[in-house]
Parts: sequence; structure tokens; C-alpha cells
Amino acid sequence: MCELCRRDFLRGMAAVGASGVFSTPLMAQAQRSDGGQLPARGEFIIDNAYVMTMDSNLGDIAGGSVHVRNGEIVAIGRDVRAPGAQAIDGNGMIVLPGLVETHWHMWNTLFRSFAGDKAEEGYFPTVARFGQQMTPDDVFASTRLSAAEAINSGMTFVHSWCHNVRSKAHAEADIKALTEVGIRARHSCGWPQGMPDTQSADQGPIEALARDWKSYSNEGLIGLGMAWRGQFRAGPIKPEVYQPEFDNARKLGLPITVHVASSRKAVNQIEPLAKGNLLGKDVQLIHTLSASPAELDMIKESGAAVSVSPGSELRIGYGYPQTSEMIAKGIPVGLSVDTSALTGNSSLFAVAKLTRDVENAKGASEFTMTARRALELATIDGARSMGVDDKVGSLKPGKRADLVMIDTNTLSMAVMTDPAHLVLECTTPENVDTVVVDGRILKRGGKLVLDAPKVVREARNALAGVRERTKWR
Ligand SMILES: [Zn+2]
Repeated sequence: MCELCRRDFLRGMAAVGASGVFSTPLMAQAQRSDGGQLPARGEFIIDNAYVMTMDSNLGDIAGGSVHVRNGEIVAIGRDVRAPGAQAIDGNGMIVLPGLVETHWHMWNTLFRSFAGDKAEEGYFPTVARFGQQMTPDDVFASTRLSAAEAINSGMTFVHSWCHNVRSKAHAEADIKALTEVGIRARHSCGWPQGMPDTQSADQGPIEALARDWKSYSNEGLIGLGMAWRGQFRAGPIKPEVYQPEFDNARKLGLPITVHVASSRKAVNQIEPLAKGNLLGKDVQLIHTLSASPAELDMIKESGAAVSVSPGSELRIGYGYPQTSEMIAKGIPVGLSVDTSALTGNSSLFAVAKLTRDVENAKGASEFTMTARRALELATIDGARSMGVDDKVGSLKPGKRADLVMIDTNTLSMAVMTDPAHLVLECTTPENVDTVVVDGRILKRGGKLVLDAPKVVREARNALAGVRERTKWR
């Protein structure tokens, strides 16, 4: 958007907010200096944009419009008229669905890039040692930092994989952070770091949350699931430990998520799940790097989905994900950040690009995976894998308005050539101009509605406290 257009936009569009100029009651709500209210869901129309719907029937629409009212997409096309709706100039912008992230330990973003270069400073000992010193306030600061980064970089859905539930208050802190930022999410409630693998996780917190979920769900924006340790950690876990946890999730009717077959060494871990009736449409598997072709068939047959995270999988030395192999079998696949302690920044556009690049390297071909296929994984396929594709993941009338506008006029993206390749290969947080979740504009003109310096400051203070309590100098 040119500077002149931006000024015009500000004059006419202050109600949806840009650049920190909050001049209407609507945007007054959006200031949120107290960390309180989210912006209202308004009515607006994005005009004259290049719209990538990621819907197989609608396809791409050059010079297209997207009309949003009260959180819902009401029309998409070239000749959409919306008198009375506030107009957003989409000239030079690519509009696409917000990215859907499928597995992220947001509670440990406080330890960003903290996994070191020696065995004793690696990811697992680091997060176990420091995680045990975390208070609910620390979890809040970490998850809020993650969620703010997610919005800033174009994710509108995240799966907060919370395996440091030291008390019900820790889980509530994670949910509160997601709520405050206004992102769509699933909170998967797990166990506390440092708990022995001979002990079943306390079911108190998850049962309490499930009982009263409506009051936690931020008007349905956040779902609840169980983060399960599964049958294998450093070694096998006994059935009397893992089975009651799994059974309780099923009893509560909650989706289950588990890391399994994570590295090339972790072989023969899928078959025991299949034999134990521990797979199904309600189960999401993480990594599954070492699954054999027969085990991939078992996953497909069960209806389970898989989340891959090439950023962390490559960084920690697990190996290459089997993304193409799973797609070929028809297994629902989503992309994920996993942990900022390993991956540093957490852009899912970067993860999608890496996913494509790894598949091309494995296939020894420039053409193994198309750019558009990688973007589908980051949007509609991710939504399918999380069971939210009826609401989000593509842009079409009737779906909720979770979308991003990408500015192609930046030095790192100009000039406009092939939209799918451009979006996959060039998008960084600086190109993400606008982010909308459920019709609420949470980023506009490259600026977040929330108070980002406060989010960073409080995360820094939280880390200082954890360092102090851990006696880390
Ligand atoms: Zn993980």
C-alpha cells in the first residue's frame, strides 16, 4: 500500500484501526493497554486484492473482494458490493487464509534459542530443568509472547501443546494468554515437566477444564484437547501409566495428541498404538518420522492426522519428515513450529517453505512439491488435520473470517510475479500487513493492536525470574 493510499485509508478507515491512530470508540476498545478487551468484529470489505482462497472451487481471484460481517465471510468475488461496509484497499496485496499451526510448545518460547551445543544443554534437559521452575505467570508470559508472534507473522490458529501443566492454574494461564491475544487455538492439556515416566498424569486439571470449558473457550475460539505422553518416552511407559490417561481423554470426548516415532531411531512405535486401539480420528500424531510404509497404512486406516515440524526435526537431528509419503497415502497432514527453543523465530511461512524444500531435496527434483501444495498444507490441510476446516483454512462465504493480507510492495517481496511462489518464498513478518481472526483486525498496516513492547518486557522479566530460581548464571 502506498503512503498516500495509507493516509486515505486512515482517514476513511480509522474504525478498523491502523498505525496506532485510535480515533473512534471502536478502536478505543482495541488499545487494550490493560490487556483487556479485544477489538470489535466490524463490517469491512477488502477490495481489489489478489485473493488466494485455497478453496478448490473458488481458486484465485485477481482484482477480488472479500466482504466480512460480524466475523463471517459473507461474499467473495470480483463484483461484490457492500454499501455501508468500511473499505480496505487491497491494491498490491495478496489475501489468503490465515495460517493454521498444528503443534507448538508455546509455554517454552520463554527459552527461545536456548537449546545449546552440548548434550547437557540440549533441548530436553534445558526445558525440563527450567520448566520445573515456571509459575503460572511465567507460562502466561511465554504463551502470550508466542501468540503475539503468531499473529504478527500471519498465523490465525495455533495448537498450544502444553506439557508443563504443573497445576490447574498453569493450564489456565496458557488459555488466558491465547484469549487475551484473540487467536483461534486448541489448548492441549498435558503433564508437568520433570514428572517420572512411572507415574500417571494428574487428571484433575483437564477434568476441571472440561467440566467448565464454555467459560474458558473465548466464545468458541479455543478448543480443549489432551497432550498425551504415549507409550514411549526415553524408554517404554507401562500400560498402567499411559492407559488411564488415554481412556480419560476418550471419556471426556477430547482430541488426543502424542509425539511418536519422532526420530529415525524410534522405530516400531506406530504398530503398538494400532494394536492397542490407541489410534483414531480423534488422535493427532507428531513427527512419525520413522513410520514404516505398513505403519503409514495403519495411520491412514485409523483416520489419525499427523503434524510435521521440519524446522525442529532438522535442527535436533531427527531426520527428514515423510510429508510426501503421508500425502500420497491420504493421511491428513499439518505443519507446525514445535518449539522456539530449537527453531528461534516461529514463522509458519518459513516452515512451509522448508517443508517444500525438504521434499524437493528428498525427491532430487525441483518439482516434487509445488509451492501451492505447501501453502495448502499451511492452511486448509492444517485446518482439516485439526478438525476446524468447517470454520477456517480457506476463504469462502459462510466460513469465519480468519485471513491475512500480504504486502507485495516491500523490498523483500517486490515485484509481483507468481503469487503462490512469492507468498511461500518471500513472506516474512514484515510483509504481513493485516491479520484478521474471527472478523477482528489484530494487525493492520504492519502494526499489532496489542502492546508488543509490554509483551516482550514481561516475557523478559519472567525469564529473569526463572533464571534466578534455577540458579542459572
Ligand atoms: Zn513437540
